[in-house]
Amino acid sequence: MIYNSIIDVIGNTPLVRLHRVTGDLKLTVAAKVEYLNPGQSVKDRIAVKMIDDAEQKGLLKPGGTIIEGTSGNTGMGLALVAAVRGYKCIFTTTDKQSQEKIDLLRALGAKVEVCPTNVAPDDPRSYYSVAKRLSREIPNSYYPNQYDNPSNSRAHYETTGPEIWEQTEGRVTHYVAGMGTGGTITGASTYLKEKNPDIQVVGVDSVGSVYKKYFETGEFDEDEIKPYITEGIGEDIIPGNVNMDLIDAVVQVGDKDAMQMTRRLAKEEGLFIGGSCGAAVFGALQYAREQNLGENDVMVVILPDSGTRYISKIYNDNWMREHGFME
Ligand code: PMP
Repeated sequence: MIYNSIIDVIGNTPLVRLHRVTGDLKLTVAAKVEYLNPGQSVKDRIAVKMIDDAEQKGLLKPGGTIIEGTSGNTGMGLALVAAVRGYKCIFTTTDKQSQEKIDLLRALGAKVEVCPTNVAPDDPRSYYSVAKRLSREIPNSYYPNQYDNPSNSRAHYETTGPEIWEQTEGRVTHYVAGMGTGGTITGASTYLKEKNPDIQVVGVDSVGSVYKKYFETGEFDEDEIKPYITEGIGEDIIPGNVNMDLIDAVVQVGDKDAMQMTRRLAKEEGLFIGGSCGAAVFGALQYAREQNLGENDVMVVILPDSGTRYISKIYNDNWMREHGFME
């Protein structure tokens, strides 16, 4: 079997049972290992879908430039697709992101503009604003805007959801995913709840993000916004791709718990993954304990990306100690 290009290798990632971090819990916890995508993250799925849809609608023409605000993973996916299809890429990102992520994007031929983290989204210096401005200024450019682009959650409706349903032979009872743009949770939940409305959907948020309060009260509360370290989950805006009606519970996880669980997953399960994976598993296990889930429950947890992007951070003892995540 010879694939036509690396794009055709995206998706169909395996479900892997967790054994040790689950302690004495009796339920099945299955991790969907998204770092086995060619760009090493779940975001390859939305990259190819957003580009396919833009080409079909005539929004992206041959030789065009793709401009996006991305924490790195979406950029990596877009850069792969752009390399194969001959597009240019410019990404805006924040100074909170790992240097590894930025270097990787540049390795694939993209230009990267690093913007300040702690400015309001509508500040002209924010990575949202800079991406929007560049897309207005540069001719023949396309701004996918993963936050509000329906192709984002659609990608998970068409791929992640059906894969989970088929891989568990319809036995999945709980679906757990971190919430960044909300595409992963919304798209797959839509599919899974169509198949079985009893499936419970748990969103994992970061302490310092607006989602949990918004889920509980329906109100956007600026006072919830605090700096945090975990990359990829939590927001200071409510993106168009989040549909709270599909979500049954939101669990907030702090940086220390996220980072320590990330390290445990590498050491105890052989899963070399990023910090939002630790957050997702920590949140999933906390929920399973609180709800007394047992033998008949099958919980699928999305592990969004790879540890290679965090070697100088989560996998560095000095960094862990400096942040108080390790003794
Ligand atoms: N974890 C990581 C590492 C990510 O890059 C993202 C995407 N922002 C997520 C989790 C959350 O996925 P989504 O944007 O689909 O909510």
